[in-house]
Amino acid sequence: MGELRLGDDVDDFCIKCKRLTNHSVLSIVNGKAAKVRCRTCYHEQDFRDGVAPPSKKDLKKAELFQAVLSSIPAAGAAVADGGDPGAAATAPAGEAAPKKSARKSK
Ligand SMILES: [Zn+2]
Repeated sequence: MGELRLGDDVDDFCIKCKRLTNHSVLSIVNGKAAKVRCRTCYHEQDFRDGVAPPSKKDLKKAELFQAVLSSIPAAGAAVADGGDPGAAATAPAGEAAPKKSARKSK
């Protein structure tokens, strides 16, 4: 394993090309590439060691997953992301009437 130098070619995942491409090393930190430039589209980015970033689809999935988790009181408590655990409990179960059906008694 040779020493990394500026201008060296490294494989990395280009977020513009959305695939592994050749990159030129622009800067090195602690012997590892820090900034690289895609040799296909010349996009500069932080060196990510070929790891693809989570796609928007994955992010959306994670978001939905979290939403589902937080909608379940037990699981939501386990996640413990600062949500209000009492909020779900305070909603009166029988009073969840649709807004359209106005109560004429009041
Ligand atoms: Zn690229």
